[in-house]
Amino acid sequence: MNPSLFDRVNQIRARHNKRVLSGIAVGLAAFFVGLWLLDLLFSGPQFRIVRQRAFLIGSFSVIPACFLFIKHALAKIKIDCQALGAICPSCSKELYPGRVFLTGGPSSADTGSCPNCGFRLGA
Ligand SMILES: [Zn+2]
Repeated sequence: MNPSLFDRVNQIRARHNKRVLSGIAVGLAAFFVGLWLLDLLFSGPQFRIVRQRAFLIGSFSVIPACFLFIKHALAKIKIDCQALGAICPSCSKELYPGRVFLTGGPSSADTGSCPNCGFRLGA
């Protein structure tokens, strides 16, 4: 793979990693702020049911939030690949596919070939 393409794939990877880390940080911050607010606003035994229900609702809302975040992150990878031109010249697909993010495995920056069609990307 030529150096500029390699750099672009690594740039996309770095952006993606930064996005995931900030997403996790925001999620954790929201969780702890939520717990703190719950404790601040609904302290006392009369609010026990309110606290339990709010905690349950908050806990279950994590699942769709994670789903939406992953969907957003995968869409951003596609946008980044197109914006930076990290597209396979053979199959026109992204050189840093979301599959790498979800299931692991080497990216095209590691293997030097397209992760979608296996096309060798320049020397
Ligand atoms: Zn390809």
